[in-house]
Amino acid sequence: MAHPPTITIKPGEADRILAGHPWIYKGSILDVSPPAGDGDVVHVKDHRQRPLGTGIFNSHSKIAVRLLSPDPVVLDEAFFKDRIGSALKLREKHLPASTSFRVVNAESDFLSGLIVDKYEDVLALQISALGMDRCKPAIISALQALFQPRAIVERSDVASRKHEGLPESNGVLIGELTGPLTIQLNGIRFEVDVLGGHKTGMYLDQQMNYQAVARFAGKAQVLDCFSFLGGFGLHAARAGAAHVHMLDQSEEAVAASLRNAAANGLASACSAEAVNVFDWLKAQTRVGVNEKLVPKFDLIVLDPPSFTRNRASVPDALRGYKEIHLRALKLLKPGGTLATFCCSHHVSTELFQDVILAAAFDARRVLRRVATFSQSPDHPVIPSIPETEYLKGFAFELVR
Ligand code: SAH
Repeated sequence: MAHPPTITIKPGEADRILAGHPWIYKGSILDVSPPAGDGDVVHVKDHRQRPLGTGIFNSHSKIAVRLLSPDPVVLDEAFFKDRIGSALKLREKHLPASTSFRVVNAESDFLSGLIVDKYEDVLALQISALGMDRCKPAIISALQALFQPRAIVERSDVASRKHEGLPESNGVLIGELTGPLTIQLNGIRFEVDVLGGHKTGMYLDQQMNYQAVARFAGKAQVLDCFSFLGGFGLHAARAGAAHVHMLDQSEEAVAASLRNAAANGLASACSAEAVNVFDWLKAQTRVGVNEKLVPKFDLIVLDPPSFTRNRASVPDALRGYKEIHLRALKLLKPGGTLATFCCSHHVSTELFQDVILAAAFDARRVLRRVATFSQSPDHPVIPSIPETEYLKGFAFELVR
């Protein structure tokens, strides 16, 4: 095989790479020799010609090289078997009882552009980078060897593929799958639509937090906002909540969450409504002259989608976060718990807490922080790759 082209990067750019970050931006490149084609494997060196690793080149992307190893490697089935095998071991260590989890979380597992989710015996694959797309046959063989899955489904319908010059690609790649499948998370059954649901079917990153939040649910009147399939709500109901009301704007999600409640014998404790949470909270907190709002809930969960796509949209997102917190706090009984999450990488933990405190100030409420949350360990955080850290959450008790 011909020797791969060498990408030399500018002075001052190597430290981030040495610390483990896998991205080389177009603007960081000093020289490419011989010329590299899109999707080609390349070797990367610093300006003093010291080797930094092996990656894949794409002139169409702002991220011109995604590094896959600090060493010279061949991206074949053996490479992916080894890398995905290590990722699997990590999950077995940190989520020993789980049968459904994220096996590969892209940069978090040093496989930029690749996501693999395991839903019991079905795997869902999402590829967002050209180089990774070229490796698809090797990836599929590695997954078959490691898991012997009933089916492998591709869910490469993410907008970021456009920036890589890739069309969407969806469907069953291996085996057979029709319709939704049933998975178990923490012993609760969920119906998951791997072929068409959000993300690859479910938000697996909250797996640990479902249980952590459920400990505030005993005998509680619970409101689960942005409930999707009922992850927080059903865990709360199983933990002994008096009643759980779930809200999501998607009719299909609401219907699925009610089916999930029934499948777990929790139907009598659960209700759900297809509504816009902003409108619903506004309506519930509206009071006439001389009327006093009577708070109804002992536990409120706020788990909205990311309101930010980029840094520029952060101020608007913060207004959205503040509004839902302000209204939720008005509906929370004294001593009650607000469990709240933010899945935007662009909003830091500090900034998120600041917004909640600003809402508490406007509502003249005082809060006690009783827990902090992060993404479940199948979405590992690599601090030298800041983009791998995105989910943050808190539980606050209402002091007064
Ligand atoms: N808590 C869920 C994940 C929530 S993801 C879980 O643990 O699985 C965000 C959800 O919010 C999606 O299901 C989406 O349909 C819903 N959503 C987005 N905007 C909304 C809005 N304004 N009002 C109600 N639901 C909304």
